[in-house]
Formats: sequence, structure tokens, C-alpha cells
Amino acid sequence: MESGDLRLAVGSGNNVSSSEAFPGWVLILWQGYSRSSFTPHDILESSSEPKVEQENSTQDVYKLLLNKQSSKWGTSSTIVLPQNESKLPFIGNSIFNPFFNLFLPFLLQIQFADQKQEFNKRPTKIGRRSLSRSISQSSTDSYSSAASYTDSSDDETSPRDKQQKNSKGNGDFCIKNIKQADFGRREIEIAEQEMPALMALRKRAQGEKPLAGAKIVGCTHITAQTAVLMETLGALGAQCRWAACNIYSTQNEVAAALAEGGFSVFAWKGESEDDFWWCIDRCVNVEGWQPNMILDDGGDLTHWIYKKYPNMFKKIKGIVEESVTGVHRLYQLSKAGKLCVPAMNVNDSVTKQKFDNLYCCRESILDGLKRTTDVMFGGKQVVVCGYGEVGKGCCAALKAMGSIVYVTEIDPICALQACMDGFRLVKLNEVIRQVDIVITCTGNKNVVVREYMDRMKNGCIVCNMGHSNTEIDVASLRTPELTWERVRSQVDHVIWPDGKRIVLLAEGRLLNLSCSTVPTFVLSITATTQALALIELYNAPEGRYKQDVYLLPKKMVRAQCIEPEEQEILKIDEYVASLHLPTFDAHLTELSDEQAKYLGLNKNGPFKPNYYRY
Ligand code: NAD
Repeated sequence: MESGDLRLAVGSGNNVSSSEAFPGWVLILWQGYSRSSFTPHDILESSSEPKVEQENSTQDVYKLLLNKQSSKWGTSSTIVLPQNESKLPFIGNSIFNPFFNLFLPFLLQIQFADQKQEFNKRPTKIGRRSLSRSISQSSTDSYSSAASYTDSSDDETSPRDKQQKNSKGNGDFCIKNIKQADFGRREIEIAEQEMPALMALRKRAQGEKPLAGAKIVGCTHITAQTAVLMETLGALGAQCRWAACNIYSTQNEVAAALAEGGFSVFAWKGESEDDFWWCIDRCVNVEGWQPNMILDDGGDLTHWIYKKYPNMFKKIKGIVEESVTGVHRLYQLSKAGKLCVPAMNVNDSVTKQKFDNLYCCRESILDGLKRTTDVMFGGKQVVVCGYGEVGKGCCAALKAMGSIVYVTEIDPICALQACMDGFRLVKLNEVIRQVDIVITCTGNKNVVVREYMDRMKNGCIVCNMGHSNTEIDVASLRTPELTWERVRSQVDHVIWPDGKRIVLLAEGRLLNLSCSTVPTFVLSITATTQALALIELYNAPEGRYKQDVYLLPKKMVRAQCIEPEEQEILKIDEYVASLHLPTFDAHLTELSDEQAKYLGLNKNGPFKPNYYRY
């Protein structure tokens, strides 16, 4: 083992299935179900504290974990360290999260930083390249599912300085470690289970390939879910080169599996700003290959091509953009008359909005709060600011858990909806003294300001599910009389002079994005929409789409991947939804001829006009 390098495998002890040696690895065996909110991310995030003086020492790891156990992880879990490090048990099943359940042994490499992470500093990575970056806002408005379960810090060498080849001798990629490919493949296979529509597209595209000849350059989170999308695009006939849209979100093992499978991927977890742009450049600036489609998440790739290789747009047929920020940039370009190809706004499709905002938040609000605070929801008083899609999801979840939920709103329509749904509509100052949890979901700024935080009760949890980091005025808490104490990864206690403390989560950034995962099924819906948007733009006849930004069309131009009877008229949103229905063994009612005539609809849809509000 290298100095400072401890390798941990973590699992639950209730199903130890066999024995196997992992020389050089310290295995930590957890027993029981007591730590439901533990994730590998917890370890990764907090591995720099407390400091481990002496590497390569089981004793020190033991101490470290005990220390974490008492201060951070509660007191109920038991850590059992194997007596003999050379005969370590294979960890069987685990209960900590679905990923653990599905593939084990879970191997986690942890680099302990030699300095304690100080408060106020962003997590630092040991390495020669700085990680400070605010290139894109995509990390705040698009969602990657899981943090990488293999740490990037196992090796100090920058991927840029490494020569790697896959088993077929192909070296046209730059990733952390090609040896992690098998592990990444397992993650991709797990994601496939929850991405039924993409798998259905693959099956249906076995004959003619609707993306044959497409050369797609992509810039998205590189996760198992993206890998399923990329491999689907490949199955539909496309060639892909890919970079990450976020410097932290790449799952290194997934990038390795993609590279092993022949994809030109340029990404690793913990890129510097320079790395970020270098990776994008490696995707587009390549001899003998020029992209004819762009799939972007945040607009950085599009921006780079505009800036560095504007001539490329002569061959590019279209841009598919996923995020709020990227779409905003496209509309700006269009307004200025500078958009030179058609672009598809996936962000505002019904399927994305509804599922990302409402259903995804309905699930992840509880996940984020539990993982960070272990709070019990029953009987707690919660105020949710904003009763739009996100607010509705949060309120529904908390109400179902037995919380007493108050809502604040500025819009009388949403306010009335809140009342009709059984929530008390209040002004924040009316309840701020009594609530246990404050959640912002407004898309607005300074919704929770210092004045309110001064009046909150001891132990009040404050978090944001809405926009970026603007909703809670965190800057107002950085005053000399307040003490900040980092108690867990992403959890700060802000302490007033009289001893009152509030619990601030993720420093006011999006709770679910920072502290939990996004369900793969939700990402499946978005990814399928992206795939269909690419098919649509790539196959559209000249002139069908102008140099403008479009919402998904009612009818697809060409839909070889679709059953013949569905091809006649097809609304992409409806099609995406229908591909997900078999997961639930859901049986859709068909219109009779008489009914279709009565409603003035085609039996195969579209079933709603464009202005319909779902
Ligand atoms: P929305 O427009 O449907 O809802 C926002 C609501 O907040 C509106 O009803 C508005 O009237 C209300 N509001 C605005 N200012 C307010 C204030 N000062 N006090 C009380 N209410 C106020 O938007 P949405 O779809 O619910 O999204 C909200 C935000 O969440 C957006 O910024 C969006 O980008 C973000 N978002 C987050 C996630 C996530 O996973 N956390 C997912 C999707 C969207």
C-alpha cells in the first residue's frame, strides 16, 4: 500500500457468503440495519476527517471509524474488523442502499488527505491540479444519479499523463483507470434494469438503424445511466465521443467500462478546470472525425464549438440540450440571430418537467433529509416555500410520513392548490419560530433570510430543493458572532451566541443533488427523450427545422425504432411514457372508433393539445 492510501471494502455483516483474500485491503464489516443512511459517498466525502496519522494500519482505520461512528454515524452500528488482514471475508449482502444490495463486493478506495478539511473550503483533492471551477451551472440544474463508488484518488497520476489501452488495443480515451471496467459494467447492467425504454429502443432498432452515420459528441454526467444511453445510441447506429459536464460526477468505473466497450470517453471524477476543457476539446478536435450531432447538458460543449471550431456547424445537423442553463443559452443565441443549427429543448418537455421536478423530488426529499440528519418525520412541523412541481412533491412525501406541513406561496393559484390539498397556507414569519424543518422550492432568491434564521428554534433543519444556492441567504450567516461546525459531510451546525443552533444542509445548495441520489427511472425518462430528440433532428429533412430552439414535436419525422402501427402519428412525450408503462404491468385503455371520433382524436394519439397542462 502506498503511503496515505487505505483501501476499504464495506458491507453488511448479515450475509457473509464466502471467503476470499483481498491483500492490501482493509475490509470493514457492518452489522445490522441500524445505519440505513450510510452510503459510500459518506466515506468519500468525509475521508479527510479525522486525520489518520499512520497509514497502512488497521488499528488507525478502526479508530477512525469508531470516531466517525460516535460523532457522525450514530452509535448503533457495529464495526467488526477481521483479525487477520490476509484472510479477509468476502462481504456478502448489504443493506445500505440499492447499489450495495445489487453488486458486491463493493470496493472503495479512499485517500486520506493529510490536512483536515477546513470549514468554508470546498472539498479539496490531493493533486497538482486545482479543482476550483464554476464553469457551468449544469451541476445545479441537471441531475446525475449516483456519486462514483470508486474514488478517483487511488492514484495521483493525472489521467492525462497516462497511456492506457483497452483489451482490443484501442487507446482513444482518457479516463482514470481502465482496470475498473468490469466493476463499471456491473453498474451499467444494474442501471439497465431501471431504464426499460432505452432497452426497448435497442430491441426495436435491431433492423434499420435510425442513427446510422450519426457522429454524436456528448457532454453530460458520465454515470451508469448515461452509459445506458450511449450504448443505446451506439445500438441505433451512432458513433459517440463523450466528455463530462460536471467535474465531480463522473463514475470512473463506468467511464472505464465505456472505454473498454470502444467508446471514446474523456472524463474522470475530480477534473480541474483545465482538464474539463481539455476533455471537451479531445472529443471534438480529432483527425478524421467530425461530429454531426451535439448532445449537451449545460451548454459548455456547444459554447466550446462556437468559440473554437465554428466551422464545424456546417456539418452539424442539430443540438439536443438537457438543462435549464443550456436551454437559456440557446434561446439567447437564437434571439441574437447567432444560432446556426436547429436545437431541441429537452428540458421543457412534459416528461422531463413532471418526472424530474415532481416525482423525483417526492422521493429524494426524504432521502436527502434522512441521509444527512436521520430525522424522524412523523409529527414534525415542516414549512415548504413554494408550491410548484418541486414543492408539491416535497409536501406530498412529508405529509405521507406524518409531518405537519405548512406552505408559503406568492401565486394565488398554487396557494389555492395547496389549500385544496390540505396544507395550511402561511407566511413564513408566522411559523418560523415553531417549525422543525424549512425547505425552499421557489426558484427564487433570498426566500429564507437571516432575520428568519435568527428566529428559528434550536435544531431547526434548513435546506433548499429549488434553485442553485440562491434561496437561502447563506452569506448572511457568515458573521463573526456565529460559529460554524461541520458535523457531517454536507451538514453544518450554525451556532448563535446563546447556544442555539440551526442545521444547514449542503450549504444551501440543492439537497437531493448534493446529499442523495436521483432515481434511475427518472433519468431513464429524460435519456429516452434525448435519444428520440436526436433521432428526430438527425432524420429531419432539410428545412423542416430552422435555426431555432424547438420543443419536442408532436410527430416524429422518422421512427424506424418504433412499431409500425405507432409510426403514423406519434407524440414523443406520449411515446416516452408508453415505453415505461410495461415496467408497471400497466394496461392502457384504447379508444374505440366511436370514442375517438367523439373526441376528435386519432386513436394512436396525440391525446392532448400542446396547451394541455398535465
Ligand atoms: P415552479 O415554478 O412550478 O414552482 C415554484 C413556485 O414557487 C411557484 O409556484 C412560485 O409562485 C413560488 N414562489 C416564487 N417565489 C416565492 C416566494 N418568495 N415565496 C413562496 N413561493 C414562491 O417551479 P418548480 O418546477 O417547482 O421548480 C422550482 C425550482 O426547483 C426551480 O429552480 C427548478 O430548477 C428546481 N428544480 C429542482 C429539482 C431538484 O431535484 N431539486 C428538480 C427540478 C427542478
